[in-house]
Amino acid sequence: MIRTTRRALLATPLAAPIAARAQQGAGRLVIIGGGFGGASAARFARDRYPNLDVTLIERSRSFTTCPYGNLVLAGRRDVASITFTYDRLAARGVRMVFQAAAAVDAQRRVVRLADGAEVPYDKLVMSPGIDLRWGAIEGYDEAASARMPHGWVPSLQPITLLARQLAEMPDGQNFVIAIPDNPFRCPPGPYERISMVAEYLKRHKPRSKVIALDAKNGFSKQPLFTDAWAELYPGIVEWRGASQDGRVMRVHPATMEVETEFGERVRGGAVNIIPPQMAARIARDAGLANDSGWCPIRPTTFESTLVPNVFVVGDATIAAPMPKSGFVASSHAKHAVSVAAAQLARREGPAPVFFNTCYSHVGPDYGISIVGVFRAEPARLIEVPNSGGISPRNNALGARAAEHRRLEAIYADGWYEAITREMFALD
Ligand SMILES: Cc1cc2nc3c(=O)[nH]c(=O)nc-3n(C[C@H](O)[C@H](O)[C@H](O)COP(=O)(O)OP(=O)(O)OC[C@H]3O[C@@H](n4cnc5c(N)ncnc54)[C@H](O)[C@@H]3O)c2cc1C
Repeated sequence: MIRTTRRALLATPLAAPIAARAQQGAGRLVIIGGGFGGASAARFARDRYPNLDVTLIERSRSFTTCPYGNLVLAGRRDVASITFTYDRLAARGVRMVFQAAAAVDAQRRVVRLADGAEVPYDKLVMSPGIDLRWGAIEGYDEAASARMPHGWVPSLQPITLLARQLAEMPDGQNFVIAIPDNPFRCPPGPYERISMVAEYLKRHKPRSKVIALDAKNGFSKQPLFTDAWAELYPGIVEWRGASQDGRVMRVHPATMEVETEFGERVRGGAVNIIPPQMAARIARDAGLANDSGWCPIRPTTFESTLVPNVFVVGDATIAAPMPKSGFVASSHAKHAVSVAAAQLARREGPAPVFFNTCYSHVGPDYGISIVGVFRAEPARLIEVPNSGGISPRNNALGARAAEHRRLEAIYADGWYEAITREMFALD
């Protein structure tokens, strides 16, 4: 009798001889992280490359998206509506492994799981997202984040913690938000959050304000956001950049105060700290990150420049000028899978084109967006000139402004619906 343990099952190589497997483009594709990059990679690989054996390693049984989390904060969505399971991906033939990946042995091409089992791969796609740099803001560690939530990585802290603080904040007290310098996850995300919180305050706590303390002097879609704040939330949003002493250096959770570069203490009834970030731990431990804390990749393939047979996609990468967005992570992922499949079939991989659209909700029926198309040269990624752009400002739209914003809010909902249906195979 053959005894098949789960460990043995995971470690069993495919039966076909190597040459035959290559001819069919067969091989073991393992993906770490079931978020925007990883779930997109799994879905795409399963649909496009039937000869690939696809395994997705994810530490949680469900995935709550960051996109639309700011609407949860404002009480306009519930968490259930932005939470997805992997059932349909599994039904489509993706082998799900619900464990944390603990290590990557690139020499033996195996991923070691938290329970010690090993998952062998021919090609590995890593999309583990980000970790927060605890201590980069003095006093801001994991314990402090319970009192001053980040609400920035749902797999580490549910957005409901920050939502509860906002709901419990007495009218007349302020919502303080600290925003990091670049690079960080979702460049327009903090400003969508400011907008959504302002919208909530306008309805529920009219004597309160949002005080935004920013470590930089400019931000994504800035004229559109500031126009909207002036129009929709006059007197509610106070934004300060680095040159106006906006950089938060220290936090005092016991008194709910943050301290700026020049020593001003700002107190909040609710305090949201978005700290500086880096690639998630498994990527750093696997030797995929450089001194910056992020993972360098070959622009044309998204292969790691540091570890062979490993592709890194999504927020963990150094892929400027592309932003760290879900749309971009999905775009990286599809390209990396295409290249991995081509390499396994001993073919040349395709030339990449990457896309991004980042919508932001600024108010009810009020959406704005930024679009970019990117391509790769051997040594760098570039934005294709005149390929994208941002929504026009109100003064350019004139009488059509309200309708334009209303339509963009609808397109934003459509984008979210489409990408999550694709990622989690809901269609
Ligand atoms: C408030 C906010 C709003 C946003 N809005 C938008 C938007 O409108 N549009 C947009 O395009 N983007 C948006 N983003 C950005 C988007 O969420 C990220 O860019 C995207 O999630 C990055 O995808 P990823 O695959 O790199 O990481 P993630 O989506 O974070 O996925 C990483 C996954 O890896 C898993 N993981 C990590 N370590 C391990 C391990 N060791 N073993 C197993 N699993 C592991 C995690 O549990 C997680 O499921 C927003 C972000 C925020 C914070």
